[in-house]
Amino acid sequence: MSLAANLADLASPPEARIFEPRTEKERDCHWSFWGTDPHLSALKPACKGIWKRWQLIDHNEKVAHESRSHHYITLSASEYLKLCKANLHPKIQLIRNAVEDLDFKDNIAFLTAGDISYAATHVFDSRPPETKSGGMIQHFLGREIRTKKPIKECDTVTLMDFRVDQSRGLHFIYMLPFSPTHLLVESTMISQTPEPQQWYLESIGSWLDERGIGVEKDIGLESGIIPMDKIKPKDPRTSAIGVASGAIRQSSGYSFNYVQHQAEQLAERISRGCYDVPVPISNKLVFMDRLFNRVLIKHPELAVDLFMRMAGSLNGEQFARFMTGRASLSEWGKVILAMPKMPFMRHIWSV
Ligand SMILES: Cc1cc2nc3c(=O)[nH]c(=O)nc-3n(C[C@H](O)[C@H](O)[C@H](O)COP(=O)(O)OP(=O)(O)OC[C@H]3O[C@@H](n4cnc5c(N)ncnc54)[C@H](O)[C@@H]3O)c2cc1C
Repeated sequence: MSLAANLADLASPPEARIFEPRTEKERDCHWSFWGTDPHLSALKPACKGIWKRWQLIDHNEKVAHESRSHHYITLSASEYLKLCKANLHPKIQLIRNAVEDLDFKDNIAFLTAGDISYAATHVFDSRPPETKSGGMIQHFLGREIRTKKPIKECDTVTLMDFRVDQSRGLHFIYMLPFSPTHLLVESTMISQTPEPQQWYLESIGSWLDERGIGVEKDIGLESGIIPMDKIKPKDPRTSAIGVASGAIRQSSGYSFNYVQHQAEQLAERISRGCYDVPVPISNKLVFMDRLFNRVLIKHPELAVDLFMRMAGSLNGEQFARFMTGRASLSEWGKVILAMPKMPFMRHIWSV
């Protein structure tokens, strides 16, 4: 849908079909990212929360960031998808069926969806990729609630609060305050195995109780498993895009900025008759993220400290650039200097 929305802006968009079996409502969840004013104005109708401050907390300290140039923006996925749909060009049609069969003959793709056959010269495939078993995953469950009383600090997003059970892997609470009485509270783990639903719910319940936050009403639940390891696209004969092409940071699970950037670049290429999918994240960044994950797997006891040191070494502007893959060499230098050297040196050859 992001690619289709970008194609609509071209002077002469190509004929295209989008196959998506799920409605916007079925696809609804929260998508957050660091954006600037132009992002905000383009996506305003889909924005559910906008903040200038965020924090990471452990038992020893709080790292609080504020940014003038960046916002932490949360979109309603369904509103974002509706926005893309409303902007579709008449030459681009949305088909509410899953692709069932896909074959190639003489460089033409033949596919079937909802008992209808289609032929295409190019197929861009964003079906969720296969994940390596035993690989690192970010798995979470979030509870959207209305609280009994207003909370304090509703101008600050809690990206990671590590003051929770760390016995099963790296665990933190992610909290988005949409208003003083409207929150999304997620229990998030970075490990190799998902936990039963009850485990995340109990973690959220304890976190709320410890802060004296009473729940007036449950608004919704959302859960997900995000790959943080090597990704294998569903079908090597198609051109993978989005997360299926690796547009996800293996150290953080954030993908929105990378998916958007790839869609913009690809639409521009298509306007020039080039159908090669741009690499979403540079090899250098992928290497650094893989090294970071390697240290997390081999030294789980260091995990909380690594995230706190990383955040603590940067200010708000630098952190937002770091998270969106635009950090300068000197910002990378600050992060590297803040890390414990031995574990990274030890695993650099095994990435
Ligand atoms: C609950 C949740 C919250 C998240 N929050 C964030 C966040 O805050 N920030 C962030 O950066 N990332 C977040 N992510 C990561 C997320 O994966 C991406 O943001 C985004 O959804 C990836 O986009 P994508 O188009 O690559 O893949 P997807 O959004 O997964 O799209 C794949 C699509 O393929 C469709 N499909 C599957 N099979 C077929 C078929 N056979 N035929 C046709 N279509 C098919 C599916 O219906 C789906 O719509 C979150 C993920 C989840 C699950």
